[in-house]
Amino acid sequence: MKIAILPGDGIGPEVTAQSARVLRAVVGNRVDLRMEEAPIGQAGVDAAGVPLPGATLALAQAADAILFGAVGGPTDELPDRSKRPGSGLLKLRKSLSLFANFRPAVLFPELIGASTLRPDVVAGVDMLILRELNGDLYFGEPRGVHLENGRRVGVNTMRYSEDEVARIAHVGFQAARQRRGKLCSVDKANVLETMQLWRDVVTEVSREYPDVALTHLYVDAASMMLIRAPKQFDVIVTGNVFGDILSDAAAMLTGSIGMLPSASLGIGAGVAGAKVPGLYEPVHGSAPDIAGRDIANPLASVLSAAMMLRHSLGLPEEALRIERAVRAVLANGYRTADIHQAGTRLVGTAEMGDAVVKALDFAT
Ligand code: NAD
Repeated sequence: MKIAILPGDGIGPEVTAQSARVLRAVVGNRVDLRMEEAPIGQAGVDAAGVPLPGATLALAQAADAILFGAVGGPTDELPDRSKRPGSGLLKLRKSLSLFANFRPAVLFPELIGASTLRPDVVAGVDMLILRELNGDLYFGEPRGVHLENGRRVGVNTMRYSEDEVARIAHVGFQAARQRRGKLCSVDKANVLETMQLWRDVVTEVSREYPDVALTHLYVDAASMMLIRAPKQFDVIVTGNVFGDILSDAAAMLTGSIGMLPSASLGIGAGVAGAKVPGLYEPVHGSAPDIAGRDIANPLASVLSAAMMLRHSLGLPEEALRIERAVRAVLANGYRTADIHQAGTRLVGTAEMGDAVVKALDFAT
């Protein structure tokens, strides 16, 4: 199996080094994993002049799955958008038609005190935020800043076609079926025509899934509910922009953004043997404020590797072993700085990786 490793920038290489180790360790000699690394983001610009070098895209396209770190840094705001590190990731997702972004937010019981919310509010949180990834304001045309009567005017376009909404809705209903059978669609249908279309299409698709209980929430109400009563959510399906924002909020329910994995899947989403490689990445960014200091939490990346084993490589037992090993190290008190509390053992990025690798032996 071919895995493209794209560490990127900032803490990306630090956390990806640990998840790649864990992947190797969990499959051992049973599976021939061929990992090949390539630059993306600022690292792509430094190596080949662009955030997504042709060789990196070719490696990703030929892989069975992609393990991605994070991109971004001081050149985020360059006037030439095509040179910004983040454009490399957007282009990669778009080139592979990765339209379904799975962001599970699960609170490990051991981290109940790490959340900024009250334990009784967050205990038992286990939700999946499914974010559409190929449309919406991030890709809609026209876009840009132009002059109108001598003043600058900025324009972005919220755009979804009915087939784009239907395909993510199907993924949402199927995911809900494999969980607790509840799907909440989040939109802003009261104000935005695009979001009224979203709601209409999700409702139409729901007729094919009578066994799934569908509800709708406006995004403002959903953001309030996420903080007030998060346990009510099973699967949330939403557009690119709302999903981007809500999933960071959901991260804080679990204690730290350093704990949240994600998977971006394309045609055949969620099915092992899908026609395009899945992209697996932590939800967090390149965290320049802590980069190069061996203090980043690698567990979001490690848990992303577990998702890869389950969704792209058809190795669910190995996925479970990683997840059990993560629980074991947390239960044994290992904590990186972002989740550290009095009475637990403060460890660095590499030491946390060591602990997970060791715990794999017992997590059968
Ligand atoms: P960020 O996620 O990088 O960091 C937000 C905060 O969380 C920071 O205080 C950071 O130190 C902390 N944090 C993040 N990951 C952590 C981890 N694993 N362990 C411990 N603490 C962690 O978001 P930001 O600060 O808004 O953005 C920083 C850069 O990352 C920017 O260049 C941005 O464009 C980029 N970014 C990239 C991605 C991606 O590659 N998918 C996603 C978001 C942001």
